[in-house]
Amino acid sequence: MKTFDFIVIGGGSGGLACAKRAVSHGASTLLIEAGRLGGTCVNVGCVPKKVMWNAASIAESLEHAKEYGFRVGETSFDWGVLKKSRDGYIKRLNGIYQRSLDVSGVVEIAGYATLVDSHTVEVNGERIRGERILIATGGRPSVPNIPGAELGITSDGFFELEKQPERVAIVGAGYIAVEIAGVFKALGSHVTLLLRRQQLLRKFDAILRETLMEEMGKDGIDLVTCIELDHVEKDADGKLCLAGNEQKLEGFDCLLWATGRVPNADNIGLENTDVRVNEDGFIVVDAFENTSVPHIHAIGDVTGNVQLTPVAIAAGRKLADRLFGGKPDSHLNYKNVPSVVFSHPPIGTVGMTEQEASKAYGVDDVHVYTSRFTNMYYSIMEHRSQTAMKVVTVGEQRKIVGIHAIGLGVDEMIQGFAVALQMGATLADLNRTVAVHPTASEELVLMG
Ligand code: FAD
Ligand code: NDP
Repeated sequence: MKTFDFIVIGGGSGGLACAKRAVSHGASTLLIEAGRLGGTCVNVGCVPKKVMWNAASIAESLEHAKEYGFRVGETSFDWGVLKKSRDGYIKRLNGIYQRSLDVSGVVEIAGYATLVDSHTVEVNGERIRGERILIATGGRPSVPNIPGAELGITSDGFFELEKQPERVAIVGAGYIAVEIAGVFKALGSHVTLLLRRQQLLRKFDAILRETLMEEMGKDGIDLVTCIELDHVEKDADGKLCLAGNEQKLEGFDCLLWATGRVPNADNIGLENTDVRVNEDGFIVVDAFENTSVPHIHAIGDVTGNVQLTPVAIAAGRKLADRLFGGKPDSHLNYKNVPSVVFSHPPIGTVGMTEQEASKAYGVDDVHVYTSRFTNMYYSIMEHRSQTAMKVVTVGEQRKIVGIHAIGLGVDEMIQGFAVALQMGATLADLNRTVAVHPTASEELVLMG
């Protein structure tokens, strides 16, 4: 039987990063990928999503251009052209990933891997032994188990759409729901967003979710709250009809489920090992990405730990450094991971929400600074989109534990402020920094 020091299952963000780092430390490494290299992020996640977000931003700029005195004439948008360019870009990226893997020294097998015991993987009918095994199989969209659910698509299907639907219903209230809703709307579809509770982005700071709900409403997205669908039907005219809580919503060309993701852990032979999963099916790992079997590790979305690409990559590299690079303490600190929601307007966030800080430090010790304003970009327009910012601090020192912002440009702003938070900055440190004028980010150093 062929034997490797390290077998990596899954060639997405985490698996690729870990395999390449392991081989650079001299470990003989096999990577097994069932689909396209790059995984979710490259093929059906961050990358094609950001292309769509860019397109939506261009549509908005065209709209705004008139108010800045441009005569833009009649514009039109061709979904098919954009899809073709986007698909071409992803294909090029797949090639870049392939070439980079080819020269890395990692051995690659294309195929679907299953564990047959805790040291052996089977792929394409062949059994291969790994002294260590990494599970980096990511996740897939989940769809509610109700009659007619199959009439809807998920984010995977969104990237396959050849035509832009006119009337879209999106179910969900998380990252994917708000991002896709914003894209469809800006590109001209009529969008209804259905939330099962009162609010979207439930785990985010209140200032972000409240502002985003207001902005989405102003942009003309129909927000239907507290609705849980019990079935979906196709009407005689081919349109979709959604029913739940004694309500019926009719006339949709497209239904998109954005109701969360489930880990790819139920279909990889874990039952042949002692690897434990939690009640939601995610693989349980400790702070060092060890599963309950000492030589089997897991990283990325399959563990349910902060499901973001840079997190999977960083966790993978640190794991390889620990296992093969002589750094026994190397592991990723999951605290203070910055994140951007590519909504319209975008959100940038890092650290604790006000609510989390109050719970952790007590309400009296938490001091919060907020700012709400209209970005100067909108000052000469009728259309005005809000910017809202919050800095959450604790103690007399006003140590910053959270920064939350929504508004034009905050997607590019948060990374730098995350560095400051990570370094332990206080409000005084922000205030000591001279502002850059006229920008939106200067508001963050002028608070207090
Ligand atoms: P994946 O990238 O999913 O890779 C897992 C790989 O394993 C896949 O290629 C799969 O084919 C393979 N695989 C599965 N089972 C097997 C098997 N048995 N054998 C062999 N191969 C197998 N994150 C961000 O940071 N920023 C964003 O803007 C962002 N946008 C997103 C937008 C969308 C629509 C989605 C769905 C996700 C987005 N994410 C974003 C999240 C990000 O894509 C994931 O967190 C990231 O891809 C996780 O990496 P991973 O390596 O854990 O898994
Ligand atoms: P999220 O966990 O962000 O949101 C899932 C949403 O589904 C929640 O709002 C939840 O509602 C809702 N939901 C679950 N079940 C139902 C149901 N039966 N009916 C109605 N609503 C339901 O998951 P996503 O799928 O949006 O994204 C997955 C992950 O991918 C994210 O958590 C994020 O880590 C990553 N991602 C990152 C992006 C970025 O960095 N920009 C972009 C896209 C994804 P409720 O809140 O009421 O429970």
